Amino acid sequence: MIKTVIFDLDGTLYNLEGGKFKGSNLQKSILERAVLFLEEKLLFDGNKARDALKIILDKYGEDISLGMESEYGISRKEYFDYVWNIDPEKIVFKSKELVSLINRMSVIYDLILVSDAPKIWIKNVINYLEISDFFKGVENGEDDFRKSNGNIFPKIIKKYSLEPNNTVFVGDQEEEDVVIPTKYGFKTIKVGSSDAANSSIKNIYEIEDAVRSICMKKNYKRKLQIGVMGSAADLKYSSEISNLAEEVGELIAKSDNITVYGAEKDYDSLSTAAAKGAKRFDGLTVGVTYGKGKDIFDKENTDVCVVTGLERGGGREFVLVNSCDVIIAISGGSGTLTELAIAYQSDIPMIVINGTGGWSDKLSDTYFDARERRKVIGVDTPEQAVSLAIKLAKERLLSLDKLNRLEGEIK
Ligand SMILES: [Mg+2]
Repeated sequence: MIKTVIFDLDGTLYNLEGGKFKGSNLQKSILERAVLFLEEKLLFDGNKARDALKIILDKYGEDISLGMESEYGISRKEYFDYVWNIDPEKIVFKSKELVSLINRMSVIYDLILVSDAPKIWIKNVINYLEISDFFKGVENGEDDFRKSNGNIFPKIIKKYSLEPNNTVFVGDQEEEDVVIPTKYGFKTIKVGSSDAANSSIKNIYEIEDAVRSICMKKNYKRKLQIGVMGSAADLKYSSEISNLAEEVGELIAKSDNITVYGAEKDYDSLSTAAAKGAKRFDGLTVGVTYGKGKDIFDKENTDVCVVTGLERGGGREFVLVNSCDVIIAISGGSGTLTELAIAYQSDIPMIVINGTGGWSDKLSDTYFDARERRKVIGVDTPEQAVSLAIKLAKERLLSLDKLNRLEGEIK
């Protein structure tokens, strides 16, 4: 299972014109500013500065900073901070879609940014794109640790305790973003065509499916069965709460896990809304119903209908909850209370979304009894609910002795 996604920046999180650094507006800006830097720093006039830069380019290629250091004793740091301090506005295309994509991915994976570009440029771009908060770490190319040298890879494996096999590297350069990380055991996704990458995508917006398909191909695993419980429609919840339940289902689907819910025959419900959300993102849904017959309320959004032959408000809830690795409750009446109590007695982790009313609000951050076996944990958003659900379910499965032999499957 993929735990960490590492992104390159330039050409990956935004497009470079023509797909290459060479000839891009970014490169043009750097060359312009390098001339200005020589004028200011060494008091060269325009012509002399341009000639000096040409000599450096001929001798050092793209490593202008090395040239400045060797030829003029200028520190590379000083060069980077001046020359690469470029306003990204005319170079980088900004989109709200990217912010929600990176936000969504950060719920499921640890995200790290690794670029050979200088620190100041990375900082300017990710602030401009409004994505800086979503990365667990950002690595730049100012030290001699770089992707192009290959030596950044062992460094980040150690620093972030990465398991390369469970980490995807995403970038637009065949050598430094695909070939070299592959040697270190990383999975790779290339933006653009590639012979060597595990997967190639046309642009960054295809990344979620690509990561998911790598999970499926390489690591067959048992998916988590995440129960979503909540009020039935006769409790008259608001559309806002219903949307929130759909969002929980969506996030479960995106995390590639299974949404398990109590299927009613006569009403809509918040857990049915979660199944609807999950189905919209092609997630697998399991509806557990009472009595006999598969005549449930929402057949369209239910992949597997489990017909318990048991009663509503009784045996059905027992089968439902015990089929879950973790449950998330939203609002909820007496049925949800029953389900939470069964979960508590079976030591199944329970998460409630705060501010949704009903038993979720009443039980948030409390224990069912003095045994204090497991707390009902309150969270504020669907994102928090699903990421915590995944974490708690895995922890519980790993702690169960009889399931330890499955450890490899649920990592
Ligand atoms: Mg790049």
